[in-house]
Amino acid sequence: MSEAQPLPESAPWIVLKFGGSSVSTAARWAIIRDLARARRAQGARVLVVVSALAGVTDALKSLCAEPDVAPRLLAWTRIEARYAALAAALGLREDATWRAQLHSLHVLLTAGADAHDALRWQAAVMAHGELLSSALGADYLRAHWLDARGVLLAHAQPNQSERMRRLAASLDTAPDAAVSAALARHGNVLITQGFIARDEAGDTVLLGRGGSDTSAAHFGALLRAARVEIWTDVAGMFSANPRQVPDARLLRRLDYEEAQEIATTGAKVLHARCLAPLRAPRVPLWIKDTEHPDLVGTVIDAESVSASPSVKALSMRKAITLVSMESIGMWQQVGFLADVFAQFKRHGLSVDLIGSAETNVTVSLDSTENLLDSDALAALAADLAQVCRVKVIAPCAAVTLVGRGMRSMLHRLEGLLAELGGERVHLISQSSNNLNLTFVVDEAVADALLPRMHALLLQAGALRADDAALFGPSWQALYAPAVAAASPPWWRGARARLLDAAARGTPRYVYHLPSVRAHAQALRALGAVDRWHYALKANPHPALLAALAAAGFGLECVSPGELDAARSHAPQAPRLFTPNFAPRADYAAALAAGELVTLDALHPLQHWGELFAAREIGLRVDLGSGVGHHEKVRTGGSASKFGLPLGDIDAFLALTQRQGARVVVLHAHLGSGVLDAAHWPRVYAQLASLAERIGTLRALNIGGGLGLPQRAGEQPLDLAALDAGLLEIKRAYPQYELWMEPGRYLVAEAGVLLARVTQLKSKDARTYLGVDAGMHTLLRPALYGARHGIVNLTRAEAPADALYQVVGPICESGDVLGSDRRLPAAQEGDVMLIEHAGAYGATMASNYNLRGLPLEEVFE
Ligand code: ASP
Ligand code: MG
Repeated sequence: MSEAQPLPESAPWIVLKFGGSSVSTAARWAIIRDLARARRAQGARVLVVVSALAGVTDALKSLCAEPDVAPRLLAWTRIEARYAALAAALGLREDATWRAQLHSLHVLLTAGADAHDALRWQAAVMAHGELLSSALGADYLRAHWLDARGVLLAHAQPNQSERMRRLAASLDTAPDAAVSAALARHGNVLITQGFIARDEAGDTVLLGRGGSDTSAAHFGALLRAARVEIWTDVAGMFSANPRQVPDARLLRRLDYEEAQEIATTGAKVLHARCLAPLRAPRVPLWIKDTEHPDLVGTVIDAESVSASPSVKALSMRKAITLVSMESIGMWQQVGFLADVFAQFKRHGLSVDLIGSAETNVTVSLDSTENLLDSDALAALAADLAQVCRVKVIAPCAAVTLVGRGMRSMLHRLEGLLAELGGERVHLISQSSNNLNLTFVVDEAVADALLPRMHALLLQAGALRADDAALFGPSWQALYAPAVAAASPPWWRGARARLLDAAARGTPRYVYHLPSVRAHAQALRALGAVDRWHYALKANPHPALLAALAAAGFGLECVSPGELDAARSHAPQAPRLFTPNFAPRADYAAALAAGELVTLDALHPLQHWGELFAAREIGLRVDLGSGVGHHEKVRTGGSASKFGLPLGDIDAFLALTQRQGARVVVLHAHLGSGVLDAAHWPRVYAQLASLAERIGTLRALNIGGGLGLPQRAGEQPLDLAALDAGLLEIKRAYPQYELWMEPGRYLVAEAGVLLARVTQLKSKDARTYLGVDAGMHTLLRPALYGARHGIVNLTRAEAPADALYQVVGPICESGDVLGSDRRLPAAQEGDVMLIEHAGAYGATMASNYNLRGLPLEEVFE
């Protein structure tokens, strides 16, 4: 390879580093060759840095502990066999030069350690994993073999133990043109070892386990490389450990500090020490997947992309020990902290997080930084006991949110904090660099907590997975492609028609009837449900009511007006009347018209009991908890106004008996936007278990709230799982009909809102894109913080390289339809399309600011 055309002196270097599994097979080496060639063809000099074959460093480490020569040499034959097999697979000749390294390892193992210099010998032995793989790679690539020890020089640190000095040495590199020129003289493609360096005496030293990344970084700095590419077994850094959170998103772009924070707070992809050398010379670092070289990977560099603040990652460290120190007299007592910390210093323990209160200081000790054992802790506790009361809390886990500008994201963490409220949080700490927020919890709960926290961050928009400049696909989308890709929305195929419609006036809602029918059909296919009702408050447009009635849906109404709409546009559909805090007259009129009325309070029976005499009625109960994507859509639990508390059921039944009324439907509806198919079977089971007490029931109505994915990567509700779960309960309670009443699920995706761009304005860091629709047209973003997809229909194909606040014309600061949206650069008059606007859109519109109501139109 290096025989190719000579490069000009100014040609940049690219450092390619391959980890243990990336160098273990012939197929991987073919990828390495191709990658090196491609860089070379782009006019770069290439330095390949390699690890030992996977597992070899461990094998060498354990044979170092072997006092006898025979087992050491036996282990050597196993290592020889592995490298020989790989060499054969690579088509290398028996006498290729890499065998010299095998020989030198043999010599070392035969000689054994010098009694007074065992660490020096150990470093020399363990270096052979990398010496072997690089030599073998040099033969295969026909590249110059560079001895890293000739270039990387370790410096002993004050206070550094001999063990650290030999096995986890520190380097301090800065760009050096002379080194760069000297290496260039060896050729255009060089290969060298990760993990090893030399010390001032010329001995081999190691850079700590996983240290090959660090080597690559030091070479990158020394050569002021165009970039360092770390090739590994995963596409990059993720927003959480994908093994625990398969929904974790690929982090496409990080700055050095954020990446450092993620690496130090738990991520394993990158060695925590490898970023520091690259920062000052601003050498970018890429992380890529050797097996899937086409995946985008992670780019770490100094430029932060223009974007609103986002939580980038949720990391976790286990084996954290908390030491809580209580002192009655601490308040304003001079020197208490100094006394306490002196003890930590005396015991050689480094403190990580600190929390303090009037009479308490709690600190955390990280077991990876500290050689913690129970003796060390007991000794510390004994000494601390002289100055305060000590409690050791372990094992704990530190769960950390990482992202630049953490403080400005606190308002989005409401849901996450509520979730943590259910656990014991021992310590909360916000880093003074505003990059992280850490919660220390019991280790036992941490694994289960992590995926929940990640989901909440996505949901709240705190982790802005929809910003493609920052985040890539989820791990499961990349590596478990079994997850079906969602079909494109209907409006993609209707662009011309929609632009025509917009030309007739905006803001305008457009409803696509075939989509409504398709959703209706999918629900009707669930065998467990006997009767479906459409909750028409979601969208009472006459064409939708008619279409749903024709699809076999009844209608659930909450007001006399809705009853009228149902009667006139779908007279044949069965109706339910489920008002809440409605006046007496509403009930009287509905009952007189023969409607099935549902009550959720004692008041109507107590005060207007005669209305219900001898009638069949429904009862809506509060099962004690709510669900949903926002507090304002949770309709169960003590914070919601809906439902009869379970404790009032007996009183309710006594009142109905007095009137000769009969409860025939028992109903609960806990909230909306639910994507978990297990939710409804749970409600069903709870209602069924109450049913016997009531005695007169015909049907259980388990409500609606069926969610639709709103954010990139959310999985749609699994209808088959829902049906299976419901059928299981039904087998136990076949005597009751099962009813459901979805609204949003049927019509949301069928509707879009078309709006026209009015004005553009840049102010401070933000650019505002004004449209003629606003909170008076679509209230959900302002009311629920709901997220609606927004596209520029006029420029559907243009690259989305502008970042906008999409706002309406209403005189309210809350009149924001979409925040920080990446969209094509827009112009006045462009038509914008707002997705998922078929539910709770037009029907919630108002004439606020006297701007009038939106137009509506139906596409057949
Ligand atoms: N081979 C060394 C280790 O396993 C260094 C590395 O692979 O990064 O620790
Ligand atoms: Mg590694």
